[in-house]
Amino acid sequence: MPSDAAAGSHFVADFVTRAVPEDERLWVPQAQNVWFRPLILNTVNGEWVNLLRVRRTGMLSRHRHPAPVHGYVIKGAWRYLEHDWVAMEGTYVFEPPGEVHTLVVDEGVEEMITLFHVCGALIYCDEDGRAVGYDDVHTKIEMCARHFAAVGLGADFVGRFVR
Ligand code: FE
Repeated sequence: MPSDAAAGSHFVADFVTRAVPEDERLWVPQAQNVWFRPLILNTVNGEWVNLLRVRRTGMLSRHRHPAPVHGYVIKGAWRYLEHDWVAMEGTYVFEPPGEVHTLVVDEGVEEMITLFHVCGALIYCDEDGRAVGYDDVHTKIEMCARHFAAVGLGADFVGRFVR
């Protein structure tokens, strides 16, 4: 019978992984030329950690968070229209609850990859700040399941990221 320690180390090992994957199928399409790579989809706390990869320039989503978000830029650069800073490679970003911001990738950036730890949700907003849609850990799980089924990994593949 495995000891608690052995069971514990197995549990943790599940999450120790190469974040930027060698298998392109792990990138789940979010929009045109925008993908996310799930790392953990936590249904207990209602949060998730993923990499966001963008290979286009211009405005992406305007959104608001009801809970904190932490970001770390791995590659490329991006900014929020509402702020005067640019998140460059190596930048840590804290997004406080309640703030509306609009993600922009500027010309000259071929690819940006950022790790985001999102608590709660992204609430997508129109120009007047009215909610027009959302993503939470559950919509992320659905997107993953659909994509993994379509690329031959099987819908259940998402289960390895879910807690
Ligand atoms: Fe945000």
